[in-house]
Amino acid sequence: MRVAIIGSGPAGFYAAEALLRRTDTVVHVDMFDRLPTPYGLVRGGVAPDHQSIKAVARVYEKTAARPTFRFLGNVCLGRDVMVEDLRRHYHQIVYAVGSEADRRLGIPGEGMSRCTPATVFIGWYNGHPDYRQAKIDLSVSRVAVVGNGNAAIDAARMLLRTPAELEKTDIAAHALEALRNSRVREVYILGRRGPEQASFTPPELKEFGEMEDVDPIVAPEELAGCAIPEAEGNSQQEKNLKILQAFAARQPGTKTKKLHLRFLVSPTEVIADADGNVAGLVLEKNRLEV
Ligand SMILES: Cc1cc2nc3c(=O)[nH]c(=O)nc-3n(C[C@H](O)[C@H](O)[C@H](O)COP(=O)(O)OP(=O)(O)OC[C@H]3O[C@@H](n4cnc5c(N)ncnc54)[C@H](O)[C@@H]3O)c2cc1C
Repeated sequence: MRVAIIGSGPAGFYAAEALLRRTDTVVHVDMFDRLPTPYGLVRGGVAPDHQSIKAVARVYEKTAARPTFRFLGNVCLGRDVMVEDLRRHYHQIVYAVGSEADRRLGIPGEGMSRCTPATVFIGWYNGHPDYRQAKIDLSVSRVAVVGNGNAAIDAARMLLRTPAELEKTDIAAHALEALRNSRVREVYILGRRGPEQASFTPPELKEFGEMEDVDPIVAPEELAGCAIPEAEGNSQQEKNLKILQAFAARQPGTKTKKLHLRFLVSPTEVIADADGNVAGLVLEKNRLEV
C-alpha cells in the first residue's frame, strides 16, 4: 500500500509509525511538508529552553530510518502538488497539517505595531522560516501576554530569560541577538478566567520561581475565593493553586525582571500612542459564573 502523509509534525509521524509497523501489509510512506525541515511544531513551537521535550524527535528519527519511508520537504499541498496528483499515485492520503492560523481577539486596535500574535513571536524565536522577518520591538519595558496556557507561559519566559540563560538554548540566532538587547523588564500574563481554570501545567508555572533574574508576583486578592488545598494535591488545578499561593506569599523580590499573573481580566481595546504603537490595554474585570 502506498500512503501519502501531508505534514511532518507529531501527528504525521505517529501515523507513519502505525502504518509502517504493520505486519499484514507492506506500506510505503511518502511524507510531505511545506517546510524544508520536518517535525512541525516540535521544531517551530516547543520552546527552545525545553530541550527535553524536543527530544521526542528522536522517536520520529527512528520512523524516518525505516526503509519504506521517504520525506519530501519543501512541497506544499495546494501549491506544489494537488490532491488529484496524489490520488493518482497513492492508495491513501493522511492529512496531518496541524493548526497554523492564530486566533484573533477581535478587539479595536488589535494588529497595530507591537501587538503580536503568539504564532509570530514564537515562530520568530524558533527560527520558523515564515517569521524570520517578523518585526519584534523589544525597546519597551512592559509587555502583556494574553492567555493562560503553556504558549503564554513560554512567550513570557522567553521575554524574561537572561542572555546567559538564552545562550544555553537552541533559540534562533537573530532572536538571541534581539533579546540580548531587550529592554523588557515586566511581563503581565492575563487570564480571562480564574486561577482554578488556568490551562498552564504546574512545571511550566513553577519555572518562573526558578529563573535567574525574575520575581513572580501574584497579588493575594487574585486568589481570593479560590479553594486552595492544604497539601499540594494531585490535580493540575491543585498544583497550580499551591504554586500561585507560594508566589503570593513571597516577600518583594530584588530581581531585575518581574512576572505578574493577573486573572479574571479581558482586554477590550488596544490603546495607541501618537505614532500608532501600542501604548496600553483597556481591561475589563470578569466575574466567574458556574
Ligand atoms: C508555542 C507552543 C509550544 C508547545 N509546547 C509544547 C510542549 O512543551 N509539549 C507538548 O507536548 N506540546 C507542545 N506544543 C503542542 C505541540 O507542538 C502540538 O500539539 C503538535 O506539534 C501538533 O502536532 P501536529 O502534527 O498535529 O501539527 P504540527 O506540529 O503543526 O505539524 C503540521 C505540519 O504540517 C505542515 N503543513 C501544513 N500545511 C501544509 C501543506 N499545505 N502542505 C504540506 N505541509 C503542510 C506544517 O509545515 C507542519 O510541519 C506546543 C505548541 C505550541 C504552539
